[in-house]
Amino acid sequence: MIGLRMNLHTHLEGWVRPSTAAELAISAGVAEPAEGWDAALRMRASGTLTQYLAHVAAAYPVLGSHHAMVRVTREAVEDAASDGTAFLELRAGPTTHVRDDFALDDVVSAMCEGMTEGVASTGMPVVLVLAMLREFDEDAAMRLTRAAIRYRADGVAAVDLAGDEQRFPDLEPFVRAFATARDAGLGATAHAAEAGPAAAARDAHGLLGVRRIGHGSRVARDPRMLDWAAATGLCFEVCPTSNVLTGAVPDLAAHPLRPMLAAGCAVVLGDDDPVTTNAPLSEERRILGDEMGLRTAELAAMSAAALDFAFCDEPTREALRACAH
Ligand SMILES: [Zn+2]
Repeated sequence: MIGLRMNLHTHLEGWVRPSTAAELAISAGVAEPAEGWDAALRMRASGTLTQYLAHVAAAYPVLGSHHAMVRVTREAVEDAASDGTAFLELRAGPTTHVRDDFALDDVVSAMCEGMTEGVASTGMPVVLVLAMLREFDEDAAMRLTRAAIRYRADGVAAVDLAGDEQRFPDLEPFVRAFATARDAGLGATAHAAEAGPAAAARDAHGLLGVRRIGHGSRVARDPRMLDWAAATGLCFEVCPTSNVLTGAVPDLAAHPLRPMLAAGCAVVLGDDDPVTTNAPLSEERRILGDEMGLRTAELAAMSAAALDFAFCDEPTREALRACAH
């Protein structure tokens, strides 16, 4: 497949190796799930977003220490590089991992440390995207945003909104935090219209000021909304395997990626949670060509969008652009 292997939508918490979870659990005194770590972390059959997130959350109990967070982040970077990735945006939800003895800044610092170690050992450019979570309140979102701003020099490039859109659709609690992040020069993206209605993408753009939308799968159900998204210049981050597993789309044949491209929207690729989905970026790229039948022009459009919309500095963008030609 043509184009650079740029991963613009993937969550740290969905990268935890089952073998690492098992080791960290022993040292942290966390009980092994009844079904074992592999079955707890991986999702084998399609279900709902809530079920999908439960598989991702199965890793949370072992992530609550500096040592664990550094290791898991470093391994995510190394595994992405082994998968042939050219550029990685690694997003994470630090608020989830805060403990009495593991403060928010310590969580973010550990993520930055692990990322730096991974970059040093692989040479792959990586940035961190810190996600506010829908199930937390406005104050938590502001604390996360301030931490993201403090750690910009250590590799934090943007903020995100993640979590369960089915159960927590309201965007109002995040308006102030997103405005603060954007004013500070951070990039911004938000999961929207994945489990919620098509209009959730328009609301995310209007209320949070994002041009990038995580998934946005349901936008394609509304042709007028799709035309609006194209005219507005929105970029959709699609993760085909995840979108099927969460029930956002019934199957790959019904995936909205091609209608999005046909409408003139920018579309970029990610693998969301490659341990959860069993589909790292290389597999998602294979699926685009072999199973979804994307044509060369469509793949080229996605590669161009990834270069345009990546949350990287301009020297990195130019270096990636040079590699693409
Ligand atoms: Zn996601």
